[in-house]
Amino acid sequence: MYRKLKGKEITMKKKDVYIDRLHCKGCGACEEMAPEAFKIDESEKADFLGDDSAPMDQIEMAANMCPTKCIEIVED
Ligand code: SF4
Repeated sequence: MYRKLKGKEITMKKKDVYIDRLHCKGCGACEEMAPEAFKIDESEKADFLGDDSAPMDQIEMAANMCPTKCIEIVED
């Protein structure tokens, strides 16, 4: 993915976010940290909303804070 920034063309590496829902405890920490990216669903597990506008730094912080480390970020 390429994006223009102040006249320069920079390369943005696309990242995929995976949630191991089997080990998700539904604590809500990820939703609190990155509400544009995560939502606790009706089965009390985290869902990734797949919103490209969600800030990646918040998603990374949520992954680091997850008590079961069940959020994985993979670079393409
Ligand atoms: S922080 Fe981790 S354990 Fe808590 S709801 Fe999010 S994915 Fe599940």
